[in-house]
Amino acid sequence: MDIDGVMVPATSWKPAETLADGFAAFSRNAVVHLNRIIAETGASIVLTTSHKSSFSLSQWLEIFSARGINVGIERLDDNADNLSRKEEILKWLGTGTEESFVIIDDDKSLNGLSTTLKERLVLTSPMVGLNEYHADVAIHILLKETHELV
Ligand SMILES: [Mg+2]
Repeated sequence: MDIDGVMVPATSWKPAETLADGFAAFSRNAVVHLNRIIAETGASIVLTTSHKSSFSLSQWLEIFSARGINVGIERLDDNADNLSRKEEILKWLGTGTEESFVIIDDDKSLNGLSTTLKERLVLTSPMVGLNEYHADVAIHILLKETHELV
């Protein structure tokens, strides 16, 4: 999951509000819908955001908790090689640790993923962020896979 353009919609007319922990506030709407995904699927988070290495994992847990989201958090490796988001995700998939997953991001490079992976992609609109429709699609993808495993 990405943060900018997902939990923090881009606004051209004002900078994002920053909370006391030094990180941007999340959209209230995005928090509601992310919490719905978590509640309905039991999903945890793997951070893909470019901010992922700016905080420790325990700081990320606190950042999400302070914004009303309490869930397990992991992250992709530090992007030392300046890979595109698509390349970073493919690298993570290559480690073979993934189970059922959905990719929630506004990065259009992800449109270049294979057809199979694009079936797991929920591409948000950067100015809007995660909304009800995206949450419905993400839940559908995650629950469909769970049922297929049974
Ligand atoms: Mg983004």
